[in-house]
Amino acid sequence: MNNKDFIFDGCNMSEIAGKYGTPLYVMSESSILERCREIKEDFLDKYPNTRAVFASKAFQTLEICRMVTNEGLGLDTVSGGEIYTAYKAGVPMENLDFHGNNKTLDEIKMAVDYNVGRVVVDNMYELEALNEYAEKKNKRVKILFRITPGVDCHTHKFITTGQLDSKFGIPLDKEVTNDFIKIALDKKNIELMGFHFHVGSQLATNESHLAALMVAINLIKDVKQVLGFETKELNIGGGFGIHYVESEKRVRISEFIDPIMKELYDKCKEYELMIPQVTIEPGRWIVGEAGVTLYTIGSIKEIPGVRKYIGIDGGMTDNIRPGLYGAKYDAVIANKMDQSIKEKVTIAGKCCESTDILIYDIELPKAESGDTLAVFSTGAYCYSMASNYNKIPRPAVVMVKDGKDRLIVKRETYDDLISREI
Ligand SMILES: *Cc1c(COP(=O)(O)O)cnc(C)c1O
Repeated sequence: MNNKDFIFDGCNMSEIAGKYGTPLYVMSESSILERCREIKEDFLDKYPNTRAVFASKAFQTLEICRMVTNEGLGLDTVSGGEIYTAYKAGVPMENLDFHGNNKTLDEIKMAVDYNVGRVVVDNMYELEALNEYAEKKNKRVKILFRITPGVDCHTHKFITTGQLDSKFGIPLDKEVTNDFIKIALDKKNIELMGFHFHVGSQLATNESHLAALMVAINLIKDVKQVLGFETKELNIGGGFGIHYVESEKRVRISEFIDPIMKELYDKCKEYELMIPQVTIEPGRWIVGEAGVTLYTIGSIKEIPGVRKYIGIDGGMTDNIRPGLYGAKYDAVIANKMDQSIKEKVTIAGKCCESTDILIYDIELPKAESGDTLAVFSTGAYCYSMASNYNKIPRPAVVMVKDGKDRLIVKRETYDDLISREI
C-alpha cells in the first residue's frame, strides 16, 4: 500500500479520478451505512415508538433512496420531484413526509394521489387545498402542523429556520395555533397527528432543540386542555452538525437525542400527557461526511505578496455552499498525501463569478497542474444544489465501499445540456 495517495473507503482517489474523470462526487457507502446504524442503535432501537426519516434534499438519488429504505429509515421530501424520485426508487409511500412552505396545488394533489405518509402542513392555504382535494378523492390525509417555535439558534442566519421571523411554519401565537387546530380537527379528510419543528442546520449542540421541545410540550399540554386534542406524533426535525473543518466535530446521535428524550418523557409524565411518537429528520448528518469531491488542478496564479490561487475544474456549479453562505471546507492533494511541506493557497472555481472561491487560505503541499484535489464533507447539499451555470455539465457520482467503486449517477454530457432546448 502506498502512502502517497488518499484512500477513501478502501479506494485510491487518484485512480478513481483517472477512471471516472473530474470533477467527481465520491460517496462512501460504508460511512452512510454506519450513520444509519448509529441511528438505529442509539435512537430507533433504544426508544420505542420512534421514526427516523432521511432529509433527502441533502442528497437525493434513486440509489440513496433505496439504501436508507433498506436501513429502516423513511424519507423527508420537499417537492414533487423528490416524491417522484422516491416513488421511482420503490420507497413505500407511507414512509414519506412531505414538507414545504409553499407546496403547489399540483404537489398537494400528488401527495394525495401517491398516498404520501405524512404531509407537514405549513399554512392555512395548504390545509384548505389539501382537504378539498382529499375530499374529492375520498381519502383521509394524515398531517402534522409545522410550528415556528420562536427559538433562535446560533448558526448562520441563512440556515436558521426556527425563529419567529421565518418563512417556515405557523407562528406560535396561542389564538393562531388553536384556530389552526380547531379548523384541522373539523375537516373530514384531514387527520391531525401532531406537530413538527425544525430549528436550523449544522448545530453543534442540542440547545435549540431543547428550547423548541419545551415550546412544543407546552403547546401539546395547552391543546389537550383547551381543545381536548391528544398529540400522537412529534417531529423534532434535523440539523445535527457534522465535521467540515477542524473547529467542528460531528455530534453523536445519543449525545444530541438522549437529553431530548429524557426531557420529553419527564415532562409528559409531569403534565400527564401521552408520550407522542418521535421522529427525527437528519439530512447532512447521514451523508455529509460520506462525500468527497475530486477535482483536477489546472491553472496556478501567484500574485506576489498577495495570494496564490489554485484553479480547479469545478466550483460553484458543483458546490455552491461557500458562495451561498460562506461554508468552510477542508481539502488535500489526493496524490501528495506523503508531503508535509505546505504552503497557504486559495482554491478558485472555474465559474465567471468572483464569489466562486471554494476555500480561502488552506495549507496544502505545493500544487502542480494535473494534481487531484479532494475536498471533504461534500456529501450533503452539493450534488443536490448543483447547477449548469456557464453550461457546465454536472459531475458524476460514484459510490465506493471497501475498495470497490460503482457509478450511481452518470456525468452530464453537452447533449444533456441542450436536450430540452428548442
Ligand atoms: C433541511 C431540513 C432537514 C435536514 O437538515 P440537516 O441540516 O440536513 O439535518 C430536516 N427537516 C427539515 C424540515 C428541513 O427543512
